[in-house]
Amino acid sequence: MLEILHQLLPQLTRAEKIEMLAHLKEAIAEELIVSSEGNGPSVCPHCGCARFTKKGHGRSREQRWLCGGCARTFSGATKGLLANSKLSGGAWMSFAACMVDALSLRESAKRCNTCLSTAWFMRHRLCEVMAKRLMPFRVGKGSACQIDETIVNENLSGNWTRSGSVSLPRKPHKRGNAIHVSGSSRERISILTGISDRGDCFCEVCCRGKSSIEDIEALLKGKVEKGAIVSSDWDAAYPKALASIGAGHRRYCTSSGKGYKINMVNALHSRLRDFLFPFKGVSTRRLKHYLDWFCYVEQFRKSDADRREVLYSNAISGTYETTRRNYPSTPFPFGEYWNMSTVV
Ligand SMILES: [Zn+2]
Repeated sequence: MLEILHQLLPQLTRAEKIEMLAHLKEAIAEELIVSSEGNGPSVCPHCGCARFTKKGHGRSREQRWLCGGCARTFSGATKGLLANSKLSGGAWMSFAACMVDALSLRESAKRCNTCLSTAWFMRHRLCEVMAKRLMPFRVGKGSACQIDETIVNENLSGNWTRSGSVSLPRKPHKRGNAIHVSGSSRERISILTGISDRGDCFCEVCCRGKSSIEDIEALLKGKVEKGAIVSSDWDAAYPKALASIGAGHRRYCTSSGKGYKINMVNALHSRLRDFLFPFKGVSTRRLKHYLDWFCYVEQFRKSDADRREVLYSNAISGTYETTRRNYPSTPFPFGEYWNMSTVV
């Protein structure tokens, strides 16, 4: 297993991969314990209201509460990431090994003895587990980071025959062969990425085509603090977005090669491309999950003891956003370009 893993994720050393697998298994175990024991919640998982009272016990004798805000009942396991899973803990653990191996869905399904669609659901639910355990990206006063954008083709893959009245808004791109656009285009998706001097990184789906000052500012708020120093390329949107946050800006000129280097963020793009390549085109509406998975892998890359401690001490407060039944009807990001209000 580790040999395959070594080929697919060359950016991690053998020890880092073993550590990542152990951490992911621990995260799953904690999610399953939260689900089965039903620890006391702090807010209602349905509406976020903090006023609730005890309301008897459920079938497996777990405590239930009644929300004072939305009048719905819930237990400690309600909306937990693995709360309603009928799969055994062992199945989730073996699937974690497949995730760390970056195995194909077909191979993962075979190893875990599940069907293909269950394997697909497990992959995405584990991406959510990983996303909840990502360290927050923060660059404080006097610290430095590099930011840049990378562009991927928009991918509308999915089962459009289920969509009823809604049809694919453009001609299908068969295996990407019909795409002959270079640079940014309204039919390509921009991903804003950043990496700090400590090696912390973030990757966020930014917008369709070229990003505006508002797009960049919205994503950098809460990540880059006042007084931080940010290096980027010559794009005019960065200094304006950073000025409104109050952060300093340093430019790198690609044509003359002068200015502050952005080699770390370029290397991050290269690793991201290598990571996404084996999936042969990620649907744009699932892109966020794959970016979270990539950032999780990056956390284990050259992580020092201090960072690892922070990583392990993350609290578990994960709730899922999409149920299995609703996964197929997740809207495509930036669908208004195609006048897609809802798609299946
Ligand atoms: Zn409520």
